Amino acid sequence: MTVRTRFAPSPTGHVHIGNIRAAIFNWLFARHEGGAFLLRLEDTDRERSTEEAVRTVREAMDWLGLDVDEAPVFQSRRTEAHRAAAEDLLARGHAYREDKGGTGQGEAVVFRMPGTDIAFRDQVKGDLAKKAADLKDFVIVRSNGTPVFHLANVVDDIHMGITHVIRGDDHVENTFRHLALYRALGAPAPTFAHLPMIVNHQGKPYAKRDGDAYVGDFRDKGFLPEALLNYLALLGWSPGDDREVMSRAELVEAFTLGRVVSSPARMDPAKLLWMNGEHLRRMPRDAWRQACDRELARAGLDGEAAYVGRVLDLLGDRIRIWTDVAPMAAPFLAEAVTYDETSVQKRLKREGVAARLRTIREAFATVDPFEAAGLEAALQAVAAAAGEKPAAFIHPVRVAASGQMAGPSLYEMLEVIGRDRVLARLADTADRLEAGTL
Ligand code: GLU
Repeated sequence: MTVRTRFAPSPTGHVHIGNIRAAIFNWLFARHEGGAFLLRLEDTDRERSTEEAVRTVREAMDWLGLDVDEAPVFQSRRTEAHRAAAEDLLARGHAYREDKGGTGQGEAVVFRMPGTDIAFRDQVKGDLAKKAADLKDFVIVRSNGTPVFHLANVVDDIHMGITHVIRGDDHVENTFRHLALYRALGAPAPTFAHLPMIVNHQGKPYAKRDGDAYVGDFRDKGFLPEALLNYLALLGWSPGDDREVMSRAELVEAFTLGRVVSSPARMDPAKLLWMNGEHLRRMPRDAWRQACDRELARAGLDGEAAYVGRVLDLLGDRIRIWTDVAPMAAPFLAEAVTYDETSVQKRLKREGVAARLRTIREAFATVDPFEAAGLEAALQAVAAAAGEKPAAFIHPVRVAASGQMAGPSLYEMLEVIGRDRVLARLADTADRLEAGTL
């Protein structure tokens, strides 16, 4: 049997990470099995399923590299097939017409449940069953003639020859109805795998108010598609060893439904950022450099190519996302220091800091060559002479020279910023502290 999976989103204008995670699992499974991955747009809500919303789905998939093997199916164009299936069910006694609510506005088509218990083996959740008494008849075509989700979903999956339905576990309950429909329509049921919900740190469904939740948010923030793909693949699945940072090919190679877990998967933005940094480190150096240069150009920062290369090498692994590049490189490339307010409060607005900056400036002025080792020795000597810990000088010097309290190794940073600028910044910061203008 050739595996055929599909992603069946209802386009709404945004693609939530929970939805695209379903797409990713379907894609990984199909690719691992050498099968086909298809797209069906469940676009029957004409208000929300605009062309724009459909484009958003396709852009998210393209960006993540989730390629589809056949032309997409638009559910809204298959209404006749859905109605025909309902007629067939009516003709064979599996459905009946009823004036729901007795409004006199026409009759709905109601599916007749078989009156037997229904059981299936979910690839993630194991054996599931429901008693006949808990399975009620349900509407499949509304009185206004529009097919209901359950009917359209099943008829389209049969039409597309879907062998494995991999979707969010909010659809588990629907599956009992869907199985009854498959049976009544005389079609073999696909294998089902229901994915655990993605939750926030409180264990509640992860939503926009918890942070970035749409694929577009991550793309706009500068995440790498392979990092988001990798991160979402691990939300509910693991390769069974301790690997976490994996390429697309490694994910495809390792993916099986058997390793999908049923417990909720917690979205952890800090971990995603870490993972993005790991993927950045694995990029070919020249592509990495080009992307960094693009970020610098966008921020209006530039410098002589070799110097920019030195700065970027120094920042190296500290860059976890493209948007880190400009603010981290600014202290080296911009003429004026931009002071980070928190850093100023914490490190500069303290008793005696201005005097310390002046002392250290004098000591640094005699360091020649202006290099890390000599700068470190000078700072240690100044601290010892003052009877203070080196930290009493290190912290203010860092903020005075760069504007920020975090950054690469202080002495290497000073070396790269260079003598003239470092001395000027130390003096300027001391002046401003004394004048109260910082
Ligand atoms: N349109 C449904 C959804 O997005 C499809 C569910 C399914 O995959 O069968 O939840």
